[in-house]
Amino acid sequence: MASGGDGAEASGGRRVLVVGGGIAGLGAAQRLCRHPAAQHLRVLEATACAGGRIRSERRFGGVVEVGAHWIHGPSQGNPVFQLAAEYGLLGEKELSKENQLVETGGHVGLPSVCCTSSGARVSLELVAEMASLFYGLIDQTREFLHATETPVPSVGEYLKKEISQQVTGWTENEETRKLKLAILNTFFHVECCLSGTHSMDLVALAPFGEYTVLPGLDCTFSGGYQELTNCIMASLPKDVMIFNRPVKTIHWNGSFREGTFPGETFPVLVECEDGSRLPAHHVIVTVPLGFLKEQQNTFFDPPLPAEKAEAIRKIGFGTNNKIFLEFEEPFWEPDCQLIQVVWEDTSPLQDTAPSMQDAWFKKLIGFLVLPPFGSVHVLCGFIAGLESEFMETLSDEEVLLSLTQVLRRVTGNPQLPAPKSVLRSCWHSAPYTRGSYSYVAVGSTGDDIDLLAQPLPVDDSSTQLQILFAGEATHRTFYSTTHGALLSGWREADRLIGLWDLQSQQPRPRL
Ligand SMILES: Cc1cc2nc3c(=O)[nH]c(=O)nc-3n(C[C@H](O)[C@H](O)[C@H](O)COP(=O)(O)OP(=O)(O)OC[C@H]3O[C@@H](n4cnc5c(N)ncnc54)[C@H](O)[C@@H]3O)c2cc1C
Repeated sequence: MASGGDGAEASGGRRVLVVGGGIAGLGAAQRLCRHPAAQHLRVLEATACAGGRIRSERRFGGVVEVGAHWIHGPSQGNPVFQLAAEYGLLGEKELSKENQLVETGGHVGLPSVCCTSSGARVSLELVAEMASLFYGLIDQTREFLHATETPVPSVGEYLKKEISQQVTGWTENEETRKLKLAILNTFFHVECCLSGTHSMDLVALAPFGEYTVLPGLDCTFSGGYQELTNCIMASLPKDVMIFNRPVKTIHWNGSFREGTFPGETFPVLVECEDGSRLPAHHVIVTVPLGFLKEQQNTFFDPPLPAEKAEAIRKIGFGTNNKIFLEFEEPFWEPDCQLIQVVWEDTSPLQDTAPSMQDAWFKKLIGFLVLPPFGSVHVLCGFIAGLESEFMETLSDEEVLLSLTQVLRRVTGNPQLPAPKSVLRSCWHSAPYTRGSYSYVAVGSTGDDIDLLAQPLPVDDSSTQLQILFAGEATHRTFYSTTHGALLSGWREADRLIGLWDLQSQQPRPRL
């Protein structure tokens, strides 16, 4: 076992490795590199670029967000907003007081148009009525925050129970009642996209209200979200980032020696896929929960304590993908921002298990109209869950064909020209992500998030803070967001700095 007297202090610095160059890892590195004790700091990133789930691609003559899209709750309490403002990445409107004061409750705004699968337009009044019912019920779930007992385990079951009661009071004709249920079904799918889950039946009811919504009207980066991670990266010393260096196994609680550091022993040794072995005093792990779920058995040696391993299994991590379609001519009105799609004859109250091949696209919630890139017009569709994962297995041509058929149906125009091209995200297949973001699943609570965030080792008899955990899934109230990820990186950097500052104040033993 390594002891505290590992010679590092004599050499004047601590070797810190950050695994993962997403916003959590970059945030941690930025804070650490300002501290004199972190003289040997490296960020090991598996892929060829930084940003992780913040990924902006130059396509269609503009920039599209393959990963994170909005700053959720852009206001003073949001560190991503603050940092983006500092770097001058936001426009006047986004920075305005007015924008920062808007309270959305975290709910998606109403669509500009709502179309059914048979090409009919749904009255926006009816959509607004269903939105108010649905989001009213979502807000009610807060009542169960920290409740020891809930009437049902999941958000989905709660919503369905309440909706079933409401339905009995609906006095409209059969056709309208069915349409109302189909609209509600789309809202369930919207909520699946927000929670990154296959079904709201998988999302735990009691802790659901712990997710905190900040004020501010969600905003975007005109030059791409990745400008933010690029700016953070540019502030780091040149040799800090190491790309194309996937970590295979983190050996910890050891006493490792490496030829490059004669006379020194280290409690942690990071073994990379390319065979390189990097010793460290501290490692901050920021890899996505999806990667941990798949790889935790081989990623840590010795394995994680049972409680932490269980937390990794219990916390939810699902898929939400985007499908971009390029058009030469828009078929929508100039002021249209969001096209909602409602599949007739669907209902949240009926469990169906449709064949994926024939019906995956029915999970699509509709399309966001992106601001035009010159003469190019782009729609961005959102799709969550198993259908989204199935979509990843199809070819671009198959996706384009299916969505052309969907658009022809919902516009009622069988001659609608096919989109010129398609670009989609495939976050479930991405080997270093394995999904989109985390949620608190049935059977887990916010305590599991805190457990995941707890550094190792847990006892203080061995060298402290060998492995620290950051990343969106470790933030109890802002999980699934970029600001949660950034705050988690800062939290772990501060934890290390706290330890070093404490150690530097302690008198050294006399020899
Ligand atoms: C489709 C989509 C839409 C989203 N929309 C929004 C939004 O609008 N607003 C918002 O706030 N959030 C959004 N999010 C969530 C947000 O993107 C994430 O919460 C945040 O970016 C996560 O940051 P992170 O640093 O925790 O993880 P990541 O960004 O995933 O970074 C982890 C890094 O670790 C690397 N890595 C993994 N394994 C290894 C290994 N073995 N060795 C070395 N490196 C490794 C990965 O390559 C990656 O770069 C969205 C996410 C997706 C997928």
